[in-house]
Amino acid sequence: MSFADAVREDLLTVPVKKNCCRRALIGGLFLSAVSDPADRDRAAARFRTAEIADCAAEQLRVQFSKTAERRRIGFCGKYYEEVSFASPAFRRLVDNLRAPRENALSETIGFRCEECRSAFLRGLFLSVGTVNDPHKPVHLEFSVPQAAAPVASAFFGEIGYPAKAVSRGANVGLYYKDSAAVEDLLAMMGAHRVIFDMINTRIEREIRNHENRVNNCDTRNIGRTVAAAAKQMNAIERLRETGKIDNLPEELRETARLRYENPDFSLDALAELHRPPITKSGLNHRLRRIAEAADEL
Ligand SMILES: [Zn+2]
Repeated sequence: MSFADAVREDLLTVPVKKNCCRRALIGGLFLSAVSDPADRDRAAARFRTAEIADCAAEQLRVQFSKTAERRRIGFCGKYYEEVSFASPAFRRLVDNLRAPRENALSETIGFRCEECRSAFLRGLFLSVGTVNDPHKPVHLEFSVPQAAAPVASAFFGEIGYPAKAVSRGANVGLYYKDSAAVEDLLAMMGAHRVIFDMINTRIEREIRNHENRVNNCDTRNIGRTVAAAAKQMNAIERLRETGKIDNLPEELRETARLRYENPDFSLDALAELHRPPITKSGLNHRLRRIAEAADEL
């Protein structure tokens, strides 16, 4: 089962408690419905699975006290479950949803309570939504017919999650690639069971990315060590060329000679070379004094 299937399965278990929310859920489920030109009361929508079609038919039965017609249709090698329903009130709802009017959606659905928008979003995802597996790049998309795109897009803007749009043939894909927005929207729909998996996967990924950054940081530290050694070599060379090296105290001359002969040694290895060995901080101190002497030139 794909992650998107798991989300759909999760959403189908969310109960509808109020009539206002049921109307909103029907609005989302049938935003992509096709009005029947030969029957002014009828509209039909295709769903991916029998379970979603069952849910859609059940909402219609409760809301309009009438049974919907069901049909399984093959289309381009895929199967869809069609729910066809004839009722003047239902057809009005479907047509009004896509009326080219500002506020068409809120006027038609009403959004009377807190959960109405979440019910609409749930219906929309069940009918036209898809989401990537959490191990893949973040992507949540609603593929709606062009006629429904302005309404869906306005809805996403209104709830504070404006979607990006991409043309998908006869449809428009309204999508998100931001993990915070995707998690918020899935939570808003009511996909609470799967959202924990998603958040866990994201946290694991962030930890891995952090580890990669730490490794890159180690590489940068090595780069800094090499740069520091090159600077020391440069200072020692200048002291040698000018003969000033002979004016340095004996211990600094020793350190300068060892550094010059072993340009690729780490500070620890270089400290060990001294007779007797010196500490790393002692070595650092000597190297600083050598650099200062070179700066004075
Ligand atoms: Zn409601």
